[in-house]
Amino acid sequence: MKTIDLHVHSSASDGSCTPEEIVRLAAETGLAAVAITDHDTVEGYAGAAALGKELGVEVVPGIEISTRYTGAVHILGYFIDPRSPALQEVLDWIVQDRDARNREMAARMAADGLPVSYEQMQRRFGAVVGRPHFARVLVELGQAENIQDAFDRYVEKGRKYYIGRHFLPIERSIELIRLAGGLPVLAHPFQYRLDDAQLRALIEHCLESGLRGMECRYTGYGAEQTAYLSALAKEYGLLPTGGSDFHGATKPWIRLGRGLGSLEVPYAWLEGLKEAAGHGSI
Ligand code: AMP
Ligand code: FE
Ligand code: FE
Ligand code: ZN
Repeated sequence: MKTIDLHVHSSASDGSCTPEEIVRLAAETGLAAVAITDHDTVEGYAGAAALGKELGVEVVPGIEISTRYTGAVHILGYFIDPRSPALQEVLDWIVQDRDARNREMAARMAADGLPVSYEQMQRRFGAVVGRPHFARVLVELGQAENIQDAFDRYVEKGRKYYIGRHFLPIERSIELIRLAGGLPVLAHPFQYRLDDAQLRALIEHCLESGLRGMECRYTGYGAEQTAYLSALAKEYGLLPTGGSDFHGATKPWIRLGRGLGSLEVPYAWLEGLKEAAGHGSI
């Protein structure tokens, strides 16, 4: 069966592999397609798409936006137009908000005597700097064993260097993705600790704004969970999607296209998305 991975982070956000490295890895793994779904940026798409053409890996433009509902909920967008002015405007706002938060985090670390310069981090990590980058720097400075340890001790909510940021309302994120010509998809539905009634309420709320799909296969989701989500997607007329949430060395236990080992996302699910996005199947 032709398999794909529709949830991948590159070094344009908090992944450790460049977009090109991801496409190379996808080709080596035998994946037919990957979607680059960086947090808050579409910068990774062009390079990945160019190499994808060469290596015979389909590359789907995507994004992942952290949004505000009753708690944090992540919305994925597929086949967005990376040049959409509406999208760019909001992404710029998100990056500015991140910058303000990041400066404060760096200042807290500097106040503890750590040699952390946010300007240097920006030069090194690019436009979308997040807590995983701070975690990486803390590891390099010998303050933590690994990224997970750095999160647990320093940058997880409630820890010493944690500072929150602002999130778009969930409706606004869904509408924005549609405005950019994309398909809004509810990411990793089990991450929000909702029971069946609460998850249904979330889906119904998102449907009002134009949600089109739901991530049914995801790293760590077992057969029963996948079956439950697929049934729910079908019931609500949502397209099923799936992906690993690969971040490279930022989350070293996750493998591209394979998750913890058994993830398998069928190519047919991409065909469903393409049809809905008006790309037809080729
Ligand atoms: P930020 O948006 O900058 O606040 O960072 C959030 C990102 O940090 C998420 O998208 C995850 O990729 C990552 N993250 C959150 N918690 C952890 C954790 N415990 N271990 C590793 N990465 C994490
Ligand atoms: Fe991430
Ligand atoms: Fe996510
Ligand atoms: Zn993700």
